[in-house]
Amino acid sequence: MHVLSVFGTRPEAIKMAPLVSAIAAEPQLRSTVCITGQHREMLQQAMSLFGLSADHDLDVMQPDQTLNQLSARLTTRMDALLRTVKPDCVLVHGDTTTAAACALAAFHLRIPVGHVEAGLRSGDMQAPFPEEMNRRVVDVMSTWLFAPTAAARQALQRENLAGRIWVTGNTVIDALAATVQRLHDSPALSGALAARYQWLDARRRLVLVTGHRRENFGDGFRQICSALLELAARDDVQVVYPVHLNPNVRGVVQQMLHGQPNIHLIDPVDYLDFVWLMRRAHLILTDSGGVQEEAPYLGKPVLVMREVTERPEAVAAGTAQLVGTSPDRILQAARRLLDDPAAYAEVRRRPNPYGDGQACRRIVDALCNRPVPEFAAPAS
Ligand code: UDP
Repeated sequence: MHVLSVFGTRPEAIKMAPLVSAIAAEPQLRSTVCITGQHREMLQQAMSLFGLSADHDLDVMQPDQTLNQLSARLTTRMDALLRTVKPDCVLVHGDTTTAAACALAAFHLRIPVGHVEAGLRSGDMQAPFPEEMNRRVVDVMSTWLFAPTAAARQALQRENLAGRIWVTGNTVIDALAATVQRLHDSPALSGALAARYQWLDARRRLVLVTGHRRENFGDGFRQICSALLELAARDDVQVVYPVHLNPNVRGVVQQMLHGQPNIHLIDPVDYLDFVWLMRRAHLILTDSGGVQEEAPYLGKPVLVMREVTERPEAVAAGTAQLVGTSPDRILQAARRLLDDPAAYAEVRRRPNPYGDGQACRRIVDALCNRPVPEFAAPAS
């Protein structure tokens, strides 16, 4: 079977990279990769780390284009590509405009779609935040629903999508486990990373921050920055913040935090560096989906700067806490984890609900029609 994997953003590249490798290594499958370029620079960073190269590039980005213009370009160019490449199956990932538009193009041409990371639901259908709608429409159009967790399967069953679901674990854990192993196996690599971040203050605990969500643009990011200013005023904390390239994020963050003591604003780093920083962190503050999944695997508490999450498992397990963007709530939760060693130790003991590093093997087995023993998370 000829499998065309399509992705366009950094998190998709990180989460699809181990799967593309597993598909390429499977004799029954043939792998072709198409990128859309939705996050050009950060996508290339992730792809080069995993040694991935694209067979096709839809190159859809235009300055200031609307979501409808982006969707139209994606659908039109994917249609043309599908007519030329003629894959037997198209794999898309997650909740991006790339995933929704490319799945639709495949659906119109009657090419079966596989949805990696199916069944996530935040319940937040508010326009103009496209993620929840993207997830739902891709699930409806898909022949293979690769649900990362049992909760994702239940969400799909509630929507009458039973019968085509495989519970696989999240492929991000495959990518993370491989990266941790790579750091472990190479003291030279770990040493080089330690040297790259030698400016970190050994006496201060590291609070690692990321953020990029549309729902936090404007006031949300201003509030987050106020909280970070107050946190960094402590004499035992340093904040490291790789700032997303989106101008809606960069503008506010640079304006409020640039040059502030104990706050290090850096450009987005490649995945190896980010994993190294997560392992080095005491605490992670984020609105990112992927980071919410990775932190529990590394035993790191994570404060999720959103009001809702489509990844409730870590909140239920106690590793993640939803704190929104109000400075009071962020600071209260952060202080507890910084000042109460027993609370911190308890959070670190909680199990990781998102995967066992075998998600890609399960997805490949499902595509090859082999039996797939499903992923079961350890009990909390
Ligand atoms: N990440 C990275 N470099 C960074 C920040 C994050 O490689 O500077 C990784 C992170 O480990 C995770 C992914 O990027 O795997 C998350 O991407 P993002 O937050 O952009 O998107 P989301 O996960 O919310 O879809």
